[in-house]
Amino acid sequence: MITLALSKGRIYDDSLPLLAAAGIEVRDDPERTRKLILATNRPDLRVVLVRATDVPTYVQHGGADLGVAGLDVLLEHGAEAGNAGGSTGLYRPLDLGIARCRLSVATREDFDYASAVRQGSRIRVATKYTQAARAHFAAKGVHVDLIKLYGSMELAPLTGLADAIVDLVSTGGTLKANRLVEVERIMDVSARLVVNAAALKVKREPLRALIDAFEAAVANGAGTP
Ligand code: ADP
Ligand code: MG
Repeated sequence: MITLALSKGRIYDDSLPLLAAAGIEVRDDPERTRKLILATNRPDLRVVLVRATDVPTYVQHGGADLGVAGLDVLLEHGAEAGNAGGSTGLYRPLDLGIARCRLSVATREDFDYASAVRQGSRIRVATKYTQAARAHFAAKGVHVDLIKLYGSMELAPLTGLADAIVDLVSTGGTLKANRLVEVERIMDVSARLVVNAAALKVKREPLRALIDAFEAAVANGAGTP
């Protein structure tokens, strides 16, 4: 049995066309069932639904053989596991090109980020992405006080909790609705296929075939809307 870890929402929705192109159909709709283990048209393949941030944990520890996770999630996970960019036991073979967005710095319209940076001021930054943010500001030589949040980052500059946020942006609609402006782009983000390194040895043939099928689907543009 091969177990594929996905998270509900964007990652699941964007993965479906890639799965379809690889000949895989999921039997249940995660929005309609409460099941966390979903069967597919392939008796040897099942999908497990986990939180987006838990995908690397499941794959690393063998709770799933492979999974789909955003680069943002992988970087935070890798840094926590003491190995920035790629955790032990996690093989990262493929950029799926789905769930695309960017990690950016945003501030209130009336906050002069450029001059705060120029003057070497200490900037208070609220974010869920503390590892990526710390690395970014350290590389720029900007002094920051990082405030860890788990959601609704946009609120932080509006309430005076922070001067800036580091958050994912796709259309910019959420920032705009909260009168925030994107002042710096840190990195482009997309979802990656990650595979358990030990499983790749034990279940080499079926996993290789699956990775190749995903690769072909990506190359054929199945993931791009
Ligand atoms: P969660 O809120 O549980 O983290 P999401 O579906 O919002 O789940 O995010 C899952 C992944 O989708 C993120 O890790 C990121 O890679 C990507 N993502 C998050 N926000 C956006 C966005 N605004 N636009 C595009 N992709 C995003
Ligand atoms: Mg979200």
